[in-house]
Amino acid sequence: MPTPVAPAIDGATHLHSGKVRDLYALPDGRLLMVASDRISAFDFILDTTIPDKGEILTRMSLWWFERLADLVPHHVLSTDVPDAVRGRAVICERLEMYPVECVARGYLTGSGLLDYGATGEVCGMALPAGLEDGSRLPEPIFTPATKGALGEHDENVSYDAVVATVGENAAASLRELTLAVYARAESIARTRGIILADTKLELGRRADDTLVLADEVLTPDSSRFWPADEWQPGHAQPSYDKQIVRDWLLSPASGWDRASGEPPPPLPDHVIEHTRARYLEAYETLTGQRW
Ligand code: ATP
Ligand code: MG
Repeated sequence: MPTPVAPAIDGATHLHSGKVRDLYALPDGRLLMVASDRISAFDFILDTTIPDKGEILTRMSLWWFERLADLVPHHVLSTDVPDAVRGRAVICERLEMYPVECVARGYLTGSGLLDYGATGEVCGMALPAGLEDGSRLPEPIFTPATKGALGEHDENVSYDAVVATVGENAAASLRELTLAVYARAESIARTRGIILADTKLELGRRADDTLVLADEVLTPDSSRFWPADEWQPGHAQPSYDKQIVRDWLLSPASGWDRASGEPPPPLPDHVIEHTRARYLEAYETLTGQRW
């Protein structure tokens, strides 16, 4: 997959672009993390952008960081960013990132469900028999993954693999913090009628070894949010994310054959508008704030 082209920003040095975000270094050593309006599906960055998506996700992340601050410090230092990216960028402290996607799941779906179907386990943890797509787990579990390169899938790994990568102490802290953040966020979301099925966190450490929550948190791009009143295990749940995009791409209307390996076609206006509305709905429902 070609790396997306990050716009030049005066006084900032481009470091890295992922599917959605562009990372820059500032002269004083801090980082500028910019959320674009790009959207990815099936491990492709689409040619179409979703207006306001970067700002919606940035505001949602900031809202959550505040609500988690007593559990774990976060990396945001300022939202006073260059005009060109105002609203959808933050200035953050540069951390040494742990090479682990820290995932907590309270419900079974996605790659967890696939692994369970094949082995009865997720990340080496045995689960009870008879669970279905969308089932609530007996208790939330830590299901770490390795970070795939651009265009590649993340891969679920065992807790022991995390210990081997980052050491026993750091692994224990990553697990503990991930589960604590999930528990807090799950209970907040529940009061809004939303199920937080799972979430992915990225943590880094400061030079003094403090663990810090980085990247973005608890957005529809990093988490599965389901309307609680529609939850019914046994099939895929309606969700507040790019499901509309995925469904359209897989429908005959798109003319796209996923198995072809070809990039997906551009999205039609109604899919763009519907997707934007879904992201906004998630923002407003969770935060209780009007856009
Ligand atoms: P993708 O999410 O598309 O798989 P990605 O994770 O590499 O790829 P993005 O999520 O778009 O890309 O970009 C954010 C990048 O910035 C990630 O690599 C993330 O680990 C890194 N990052 C986030 N916060 C910090 C931080 N405080 N210090 C250093 N790196 C950070
Ligand atoms: Mg990422």
